[in-house]
Amino acid sequence: MSLPPRLVLATKNRDKVREARAVLAEVAPGVELVEGFDWPDVEETGATLEENALLKARAVAAATGLAAVADDTGLEVAALGGAPGVHAARYAGPEAGYAANRRALLEALEGATDRRARFRTVVALVVPGGEEVLAEGALDGFITREERGGGGFGYDPIFAVEGRTLSEMGEDEKNRISHRARALTALTELA
Ligand code: IMP
Repeated sequence: MSLPPRLVLATKNRDKVREARAVLAEVAPGVELVEGFDWPDVEETGATLEENALLKARAVAAATGLAAVADDTGLEVAALGGAPGVHAARYAGPEAGYAANRRALLEALEGATDRRARFRTVVALVVPGGEEVLAEGALDGFITREERGGGGFGYDPIFAVEGRTLSEMGEDEKNRISHRARALTALTELA
């Protein structure tokens, strides 16, 4: 099988849309990503990345009548027992933005020598009235001691792979190795 020829990306996060578009243009060039739809916000009430990705993809497939691909991403920090994990978007509180979440994580790791971390993305493809497929991608790295770089979004300025943060890499480089790229590539192989 292959991905449906027309898809909607089930996210309102422009940063995720930009990255997913770039990755899918490489790994699934025949797929049209349809824009211009709107849908009610979907509450991420699931206990796992898988549940949240499915919640979002099902809701958007139902609202648009199109096949939908959703992404849910977690950041698992070894010294914090896997936190913030699935709660990464709200680490510094329910309304927290990117910068507040990064500050909270740097504070939680103050003085910590074990700074290992893993991004994990689960993507869900839901075809209205039909197929549901899940795929996963991960990226191992380290939480830095301060922010570095100007690119990317979210935790990118404090997540380093082989000495450079994802923000210090260009978008093309991030998209070659990222958890999101790996999950989307795996999806194209499964769907
Ligand atoms: P969610 O998938 O929207 O729930 O994202 C969880 C949290 O991780 C949010 O705070 C995002 O900003 C952050 N996040 C998701 N993907 C990335 C990424 O590729 N790099 C850095 N932060 C990310």
